[in-house]
Amino acid sequence: MAQTRLMRELERQGISRREFLTFCASMAAVLGMPKSASATIARAIETEERPILVWLEFQDCAGNTESFLRAGHPTVADLILDTISLNYHETLMAAAGTQAEDALESTVAKHKGKYIALVEGSIPADADSGYCMVGGRSALDIAREVCGNAAATVAVGTCATFGGLPAARPNPTRALSVADAVPGVKNLIHLSACPANAENITALIVYYLTVKRWPPLDQYRRPLFAYGTLIHDACERRAHFDSGQFVEEWGDEAHRHGYCLYRMGCKGPATSQNCPIVQWNSHTNWPIGCGHPCLGCAEPNFWDVMTPFYERLPNVAGVSASRWLDPVGLTASGAVAAAAVIHGIGEVRRYRRGHHRPPEDKGHADENKHESDSNEESRK
Ligand code: SF4
Ligand code: SF4
Repeated sequence: MAQTRLMRELERQGISRREFLTFCASMAAVLGMPKSASATIARAIETEERPILVWLEFQDCAGNTESFLRAGHPTVADLILDTISLNYHETLMAAAGTQAEDALESTVAKHKGKYIALVEGSIPADADSGYCMVGGRSALDIAREVCGNAAATVAVGTCATFGGLPAARPNPTRALSVADAVPGVKNLIHLSACPANAENITALIVYYLTVKRWPPLDQYRRPLFAYGTLIHDACERRAHFDSGQFVEEWGDEAHRHGYCLYRMGCKGPATSQNCPIVQWNSHTNWPIGCGHPCLGCAEPNFWDVMTPFYERLPNVAGVSASRWLDPVGLTASGAVAAAAVIHGIGEVRRYRRGHHRPPEDKGHADENKHESDSNEESRK
């Protein structure tokens, strides 16, 4: 079989076909596809036209970019120039100043309605969006133009998805999510988490290349392949939770034995993401695996609603349904906790029923309005 341009390039970089196929198999696993799908994925990556990406950074810490660059082997950096065409990324591109801004402008003009916009960071609305300027233009202005003309927009990380840390009370810059800043934006997909997992960013692009459409989403517009399971349901410490074996103090014997971290503030029962399965740093480990509770970083307004991080919340959805419910949490909260039990069970059921909806071809102003209303509500 004739060697494809991609394989020639990967080989030049010292990446064998076997390693490439291993990468395709790992993508099939992340996407919840059967192993046999890896051949289809390989074919799509090798032969499909490269999608054009522009990556915008606003009020962020560049943590999602860092995460993106630390994907497994072959790294995204290995594949970046061959699988995708990343036309604009402030942190990664060699160009600077007007040359960089020209690259963005010409991509938007030449590929209107065809490129994918990835947004990292929240967008400040106060002071005429003057808290965040790039090349003399406000973040709000850039986001509206670039996302408004994109085929799809991916909000990468919790800041772009839900406002994140900049939007935590008292939200001094009136930081907005992409959905709030660009109402009605087409095909909006959320990859929440702080930062978003590189495997999920890569898998989303691979899914699009392979299936030729965007994946089904949950009620927060997050792909179900990555956010369809509660951390708690896939957690390696779950048997300890079910047996009532909890860490009570950092470094105690239960901690050394890898017992459940719920009483140390773990928000896994209220957080949906595939961290226990995909893990981090090329599947090396993940927070709970190394003895630290989940902070709930993939959930809306987590800086406000999941804090204090090291205290368990009496109204964590789902936990209340367990026979190992912390009696202190329940009795202290009385009727409020009882209401939380009902709410919690409802939330979990709602999640399990799933909200399998792909992004629409047209805008979804109403849904954005709904998100906007609920974000506004939670900020009060
Ligand atoms: S509470 Fe946290 S540590 Fe315990 S089983 Fe659930 S997710 Fe795992
Ligand atoms: S374990 Fe929890 S806090 Fe850690 S990355 Fe996953 S969702 Fe975020």
